[in-house]
Amino acid sequence: MDVDLTTLEAALAPYIVLFGDSGVQYVSAALAKRLGVIDDELRRNLEKFPAFCCPANEIPPTVSLAMTGRDAEVFACTAIPFDDCKLIALSDEKQPSRPFFEYADRDTFVRMFKNVPAGSLVVDGGAIVYTNDFLCSLLEMKREEVLGSRIIGILSRQSRRDFIKACETWHMQDNGKDTGCDLVLVSNRGRMLHFVARGGWIERASRQLLWIILEDVTEKDRLVRALKEEQQKFSALFGDLPAGMIYVSPRGRIIECNAYVADLVGYPREQIMDSIFTDYVSHDQADTLNEDFRRLFTDGGEITKRECQITAKGGRPVTIEYNARAIHRKGHPVKALMMFSDVTDKKALELELLEKNAEMERTLWDMAEVKDALEARAGELNKATEDLKQLNEKLGMLSITDGLTELYNHRHFQDRLSEEIERLNRLKDGVLSLLMLDIDDFKRFNDTYGHQCGDMVLKHIAALLKGSIRSIDILARYGGEEFAVILPNATTEQAVIVAERIRQTIRSSPFSYGQAIAAKVTVSIGVGTITSGHKDKSELVKKADSAMYAAKAKWKDRVEIWEVD
Ligand code: GH3
Ligand code: MG
Ligand code: MG
Repeated sequence: MDVDLTTLEAALAPYIVLFGDSGVQYVSAALAKRLGVIDDELRRNLEKFPAFCCPANEIPPTVSLAMTGRDAEVFACTAIPFDDCKLIALSDEKQPSRPFFEYADRDTFVRMFKNVPAGSLVVDGGAIVYTNDFLCSLLEMKREEVLGSRIIGILSRQSRRDFIKACETWHMQDNGKDTGCDLVLVSNRGRMLHFVARGGWIERASRQLLWIILEDVTEKDRLVRALKEEQQKFSALFGDLPAGMIYVSPRGRIIECNAYVADLVGYPREQIMDSIFTDYVSHDQADTLNEDFRRLFTDGGEITKRECQITAKGGRPVTIEYNARAIHRKGHPVKALMMFSDVTDKKALELELLEKNAEMERTLWDMAEVKDALEARAGELNKATEDLKQLNEKLGMLSITDGLTELYNHRHFQDRLSEEIERLNRLKDGVLSLLMLDIDDFKRFNDTYGHQCGDMVLKHIAALLKGSIRSIDILARYGGEEFAVILPNATTEQAVIVAERIRQTIRSSPFSYGQAIAAKVTVSIGVGTITSGHKDKSELVKKADSAMYAAKAKWKDRVEIWEVD
């Protein structure tokens, strides 16, 4: 240990013992004198002394030293671990402090230290012989309590070693006013008081006195500690944040960046720091980015939610989304903090989604086109079906219609007659009549005016017939100039009424052909009737036919009923 131990006898305690690896390395001569033994004997005794044969922190606060043939002496004891040694400071426990007036020029101390805005102490042999009000109030002790107490008693444990070093420094410099050392004192209530101490030596009344000025930095220290803690917290946060953090100087230089940035771009942090932040983006984006940051430094404010593409190691493109804000000191922007996150995957997903959407849209368009085409085709098909249906109906109609008169033809007449006879036979007391109608002397129209005129007569009669029957009656051209009318549910009497009405209508509706011809046309009508139980179709036809021939035989233009032969 490089400390002048005699200095410590003045500053720390009147008696010093220093234990090294090989036993006692130093003992104050004053202690040997005090105990009435020679140095060597004291050394040997102390080396065997059980209270000192333990680690420094286990040495008791008071020890009782007894030399052969003498009374035991009690000392206050403080052990201070120092490098590989242990330093033991001993002082008379009951030794009263030296009265202050013993120092010839106490007024000097008062003048020197009383009104300084700092604590002041004067120490003699480790005992405080002077202090000022400033320090007393910080120590929460009365002046009388401080005076005479040992300086070691108010030094915090961790400051003892620093105090020893400071004493040495002040001793070496002879006057160490300019060399401050950090000291922590403990107040009466256990409060830690942080000071920057400056000290020096003066000799008064043939004593080496240590004076110390203590600048209270407790609050400053507290602030510094708090700041350090905040800085540590911030650094930890900054470092571990799952987002990129970059401090950029107004000239665009990266002052600081966190691990996320290094991971993202694939370069070591040290390499990124001090590089220009636009080095990692393409030229066109660099211009935009530079412009943004220039505005940030000139106008303040912030940049929010911008996107830009950076190029990571190996040319890998990375899309980042960033926010940035200027950081001001005394009203001036000194740097900008840029925070960003990697949105490459999000971007890729967005792109994929966009492509999918476009594809879906295309598919939808295609589908819409196909649907339209199908609808058009369906329309065509519907129309074709409808046309076909109409055609079928037309064909159906044609197949059952007589081309000239547009009445039902003979075949259809037969079908309908069969149906009506079936219907009749489903009834218990049904009745069904049939009119057979033949144009009288038709041949003469053909013969006189030609076949075409004959056709017109047929049409003329057909039209008159159509207008003379009920909707349920079935009118057909039976053949040549013969017509048939099926009258469902009509008795012979009712059928005769219809037949008469027809006959009258026809005879009173002269046929005109061109301007020259206006001829009277008459018809002979035979009425046949059958009732339920009669199933033979030809029976009814025969009846009506015979009746019609009967009418012909009786001068024509008549209605005849079928009579039993
Ligand atoms: P009746 O009074 O005895 O019935 O004498 P009619 O002349 O009416 O009878 P007839 O059987 O002698 O003549 C029928 C004629 O009708 C014979 C045929 O040439 C003619 N005829 C048949 N079908 C048609 C046709 O579609 N058009 C024309 N113009 N004549 C037809
Ligand atoms: Mg005929
Ligand atoms: Mg005829």
